[in-house]
Amino acid sequence: MTTTPLQQIILAGPRGFCAGVDRAIDIVELALQVCPHPIYVRREIVHNRHVVEALRAKGAHFVDELDEVPDNATVIFSAHGVSPAVRAEALRRGLSVIDATCPLVTKVHLEAIRYAREGYSIILVGHADHDEVVGTMGEAPDRMFLIAHPEDVDRLDVTDPDKVAYLTQTTLSVDDTRDCVEALRRRFPKIVGPAKDDICYATQNRQAAVKTVAGEVDVLLVIGAANSSNANRLVEVSTVMGTPSYLINDKNDIRAEWLEGAGRVGVTAGASTPEFLVTEVVNELRRMCPAAVREVHVVEEDVRFGLPRELEDIARRAGKAIPTRSGLPTFKEE
Ligand code: SF4
Repeated sequence: MTTTPLQQIILAGPRGFCAGVDRAIDIVELALQVCPHPIYVRREIVHNRHVVEALRAKGAHFVDELDEVPDNATVIFSAHGVSPAVRAEALRRGLSVIDATCPLVTKVHLEAIRYAREGYSIILVGHADHDEVVGTMGEAPDRMFLIAHPEDVDRLDVTDPDKVAYLTQTTLSVDDTRDCVEALRRRFPKIVGPAKDDICYATQNRQAAVKTVAGEVDVLLVIGAANSSNANRLVEVSTVMGTPSYLINDKNDIRAEWLEGAGRVGVTAGASTPEFLVTEVVNELRRMCPAAVREVHVVEEDVRFGLPRELEDIARRAGKAIPTRSGLPTFKEE
């Protein structure tokens, strides 16, 4: 076994929080300041327990379903979006809804609604049981079909093969999705879909950064939750390139045997991962073996999403400043 000591830690950029996650966290924090308590949040606001626990400590009540929310209370929908059935239930119960659905997820919902109205069978490329997919499928459950792999295309049974549209989950692998779309085009030559696909800018940029970094390192650590789709895709992208990659929640998950023989280790973070976890991981690596830190940025991001108008109005009336996050994280040595 090689015993090369760790010499360099390469940080992938962009990494970590995207504009949709920034916005969702801002929404909960602002609602906690300006709306009557208790404030409920349906499901994890974003898929990261550190984020959820921090908001819980500030007073947010996380629930799985609306039946855990008292009538007339305030509830926040997560960044992953909800189906129309959930919205209807909230309306029926008189709940005050604050919608933290990422605008890029809402865009996919609107595409589903439009294609359904125009009579298309809609193929959604995505992962079953992910909150985003459950919400999107709910827009047209009687005419939507879910596929995850190119092999699934042959099993599709649509009413009219000349009237088919496709959509994609926002956090998929760019390469795997291209294979699915090519298989769909072969089976349904007249298929229509979004101009490119619905994979969001943040997912694409983080995967592009991993492709660059994975080529330079012996091991890649991806900081993110097991139920984070985009974090899992980062592990896959690296693994496909032949660079061993491990998904970790935080510094406590690092295993010394992963680093044996690794002169260079890459570190990145999924779109729901706060930057302080990156700092902790890098410091833990350097505690295990002093190493230089280098950042590789493949693209700068300047995407920002506004907060819901109703929440901003409530905040202004309460004299509270509207939060704006700082954007792309930069590693700060401790
Ligand atoms: S990963 Fe993409 S779709 Fe999901 S919240 Fe972030 S920007 Fe929005």
